[in-house]
Amino acid sequence: MYQIKKASELIKKSNRTVLLTGAGISTESGIPDFRTPGKGLWEKVDPMEVLSKNTLYNNPEKFYKEGFKILMGIIEAEPNKGHLAIAEMEKLGFLDCIITQNIDNLHQKAGSKNLLEVHGHIRTGSCIECGEKVSFNIIKNKINKNQIPPKCNKCNGNIRPDVVLFGDGLPEDFNTAWDKVRESDLLVVVGSSLTVAPVSYLPGLASRLIIINLGDTPYDDMADVVIREKTGIVLPKILKYLKSGG
Ligand code: NAD
Repeated sequence: MYQIKKASELIKKSNRTVLLTGAGISTESGIPDFRTPGKGLWEKVDPMEVLSKNTLYNNPEKFYKEGFKILMGIIEAEPNKGHLAIAEMEKLGFLDCIITQNIDNLHQKAGSKNLLEVHGHIRTGSCIECGEKVSFNIIKNKINKNQIPPKCNKCNGNIRPDVVLFGDGLPEDFNTAWDKVRESDLLVVVGSSLTVAPVSYLPGLASRLIIINLGDTPYDDMADVVIREKTGIVLPKILKYLKSGG
């Protein structure tokens, strides 16, 4: 409880708090992360292979049948108590912005507004040739009709999901995220192993640091507070503390 109080006090005192999330915030919504052992989904396929730019271009059959299939499963997930607590913290003015590495759309569904999805999202896809945007459901329907790779209705180019694939260039919005953390006076990391670059560099820019994560991170030693508890338990407690004025 002492750590929750300490984290809440830091958030209250801070003028600009940025919150950074990773796959761990969504495990309680049924989406496995990459690094917790024994979680089926990612053990059957190698995400670094099936969700890579190389596979998209050189083996589209594999990309859409194995990699894209995983993304299609994620689209039905719903936000959990952690996502909802974050959305409410933002609404109450405690958060300047939320940076997420997740592509699962759950912060949006929970109502977060000032959101930087630095690895993209599963709401849309784009034509590789003409850039035409299409909804994820349209891509899904094309694939279900065995159109692999799915084709753009305008120019017949291939459509790809708007997520940052392994091998893609610097994530969209990443420069803004970098500036946001540099200008902040507190960074709260939630559910991330902090091992995937370049997001893993962000805590190094933070003035003060809170880490809420079940596993170790390379930044634990320099953090002001480290809480090793589930985000769906910790975040509602912090929210309660913030609302209580205690
Ligand atoms: P990661 O898998 O490297 O680390 C997740 C961390 O969350 C682990 O250290 C684990 O101990 C912790 N964790 C798991 N469940 C938790 C819980 N309930 N409460 C607190 N901590 C919990 O994830 P990462 O750092 O985000 O990096 C993986 C990369 O893969 C990212 O780019 C991410 O976008 C992507 N990814 C995204 C999703 C998603 O969109 N939901 C899922 C898997 C991977």
